[in-house]
Amino acid sequence: MPETVAVIGAGLVGCLTAIALAKRDYKVTLFDYRLDPRDQKTIDRNLRSINLAISSRGISSLEFVDKEVAGRVLKGIIPMKGRMIHHLNGAQESQTYGLFGESINSIDRAVLNHLLLDELERIGSDKVQVKFGHKLSKIKYGKPDEFQSCVFATEEGVDQVYATNFVVGCDGSYSTTRDQMQREVRMHFSQEYIDCCYIELYIPPSKNYDARYKGNFSLAPDHLHIWPRHQYMLIALANADGSFTSTFFGPWGLVESLLKSEARVREFLIKNFPDAMEIMGINQAVKSFMSHPKGALMCIECDPYNVSGGRGIILGDAAHSMVPFYGQGMNCGFEDVKVLMKLLDAYDGDRAKAFDAYTRERHQDLTAIVKLAKRNYKEMSHDVTSKVFLLRKKLDHW
Ligand code: FAD
Repeated sequence: MPETVAVIGAGLVGCLTAIALAKRDYKVTLFDYRLDPRDQKTIDRNLRSINLAISSRGISSLEFVDKEVAGRVLKGIIPMKGRMIHHLNGAQESQTYGLFGESINSIDRAVLNHLLLDELERIGSDKVQVKFGHKLSKIKYGKPDEFQSCVFATEEGVDQVYATNFVVGCDGSYSTTRDQMQREVRMHFSQEYIDCCYIELYIPPSKNYDARYKGNFSLAPDHLHIWPRHQYMLIALANADGSFTSTFFGPWGLVESLLKSEARVREFLIKNFPDAMEIMGINQAVKSFMSHPKGALMCIECDPYNVSGGRGIILGDAAHSMVPFYGQGMNCGFEDVKVLMKLLDAYDGDRAKAFDAYTRERHQDLTAIVKLAKRNYKEMSHDVTSKVFLLRKKLDHW
């Protein structure tokens, strides 16, 4: 009889975890409190439009799990070979990421999530079942070798209990799996909000085809665009249809106190990002700035990541939420899956040993990347414009 596993959270990391475990012949059930995000009626309710940068860390992890799956889900990525710095006077300055054309890649979060869910269907319901509309509320851990009992609140308003050999929590920053785990193990845990909020904006496709960019792009699609203004910044990543998803980052005090009226926002955007407003359309930008949700950014660290006896483990943002400035949250979550699968293989499926080894081996790397992510905000919003940085960049190129 194959062992059963409940994977909590059908986001990016949960889907990849479910694929990887199904390939190792576990009987997987993937739960999410959302409704199916591929269903047109639920799209707006469930997902923000953010596009993400996927780097070699994420790509190699996807490929480790399944090369063919990686090929299919990464089909639409747009390589970005460098940053494009937009100075206040309108000048654009390309800063390439590597000497040999190394790039990170723009990918639509929703599309990636949908494609990974499609891949789960392709594996077949005898190996993986996906249950939407199931919100984990409680886990009662049994003794090692006993079942773990998960309680879900369902759409119908009835609680359902699901018994499983082990649980993998991929339920994001506000993880209930982690919360329940903290009742079972003496977990160090820290959560820190940074003084920065983010607001999503949008650059529509250009009306004209641009031969240089081979599409209706109003900016070079092969760059990550940054308008660094020290205390705040704007960034933009290309989408396949010629549009760009843009994100404003700035301190809460600025957004909540100083930028409260349409007139103030209009003045602020035109003064600081004049070239971006030209292609965004100032009226649309002001409307989006005022009405779009204002997201908080936080770092989460914990140790250990698992319950002894191989009964449960947390991966992705549930274990290490990080600020987005290093573009590594999802990439690192994908890498969690690779590291865990390698350990399960190395210990010949002995979960107790593999999960303990995961916590031991992974903690230092995760602590380091959370720190690097925090540090990169200063680099993106400020250092990229400093003389010392530019000189260093020049020397690097020689
Ligand atoms: P999530 O995506 O949060 O998924 C968790 C899932 O669990 C959700 O589907 C949720 O519905 C479900 N869930 C939650 N609670 C329960 C429950 N009780 N029961 C059942 N289901 C539950 N990362 C990068 O690598 N590159 C980038 O460029 C990048 N840019 C970013 C930009 C911004 C503005 C932000 C905010 C983040 C960015 N990230 C980036 C980080 C990335 O978005 C996250 O690291 C990634 O989404 C984490 O995936 P996850 O599957 O662990 O968690």
